[in-house]
Amino acid sequence: MRFHVVTIFPDFFGSILEHGLLKRALAAGEIEIRIHDLREFTDDPHRTVDDRPFGGGPGMVFKPEPIFRAVEQIRADSADPSWPVILLSPQGRLLTQAVAEELARHRGLILICGRYEGVDERVATHLTSDELSIGDYVLSGGELAAAVVMECVTRLVPGVLGNEESAQQDSFGEGQAILDCPHYTRPAEFRGLKVPEVLLSGNHREISRWRRRQSLEKTWRRRPELLAGLSLTAEERAMLEEMERARVTPAPR
Ligand code: SAM
Repeated sequence: MRFHVVTIFPDFFGSILEHGLLKRALAAGEIEIRIHDLREFTDDPHRTVDDRPFGGGPGMVFKPEPIFRAVEQIRADSADPSWPVILLSPQGRLLTQAVAEELARHRGLILICGRYEGVDERVATHLTSDELSIGDYVLSGGELAAAVVMECVTRLVPGVLGNEESAQQDSFGEGQAILDCPHYTRPAEFRGLKVPEVLLSGNHREISRWRRRQSLEKTWRRRPELLAGLSLTAEERAMLEEMERARVTPAPR
């Protein structure tokens, strides 16, 4: 997987690439990340990337020319024309685990980070293949959003996690939008707080049943809207019915 990121703040990505998963995946050659300074694609002495909005109003807007040039150059140098060109934008489709899985099927992604009031609309309509939002809130720039996309897609690149199972068991794993079960580690008792007995039992069937029930219950309490999309076994349906019957009122988070 190769990521190309177009940004006016190339240094922003320094520490993100020097820690944890992205660092390991880069070192192992499982991913490549190329950061492109948008100002390198300007043609004036001031390296201007933005201008005032037509029609007036506050703020500045990224000009189309440097972004078009950047993407055309990246494509000419190293990118397959079929790779998605993604504009990070609060107006884009929401990044979910399912979208991350879809993106991870590509060999590369070109990510464009906006700033200020945003990006000239012709970039969205005539250059990019997708617009992605990381949530219904507004950031000052697309860099954090690009980092989020790279991190969650990298986790899905085969071989990166080592233990493939752990990605599948995460919340939203296995194509199932269900929250992960609680996890515990040593000590078995901490300040009087005990780990659930079943996890110490060694009974793997019971442990797996307990985990599934916990996942369902967490989802039922916190994200009940997700349950509609699940394909449940008869046993799981019975578990949910039992929760409903017990009238466990959804607790505050
Ligand atoms: N005026 C724009 C609007 O209301 O849609 C917001 C522009 S925002 C201040 C500047 C840049 O930050 C955007 O062009 C985009 O690249 C990035 N950005 C902000 N929020 C984002 C989000 N939720 N997801 C992805 N990118 C975001």
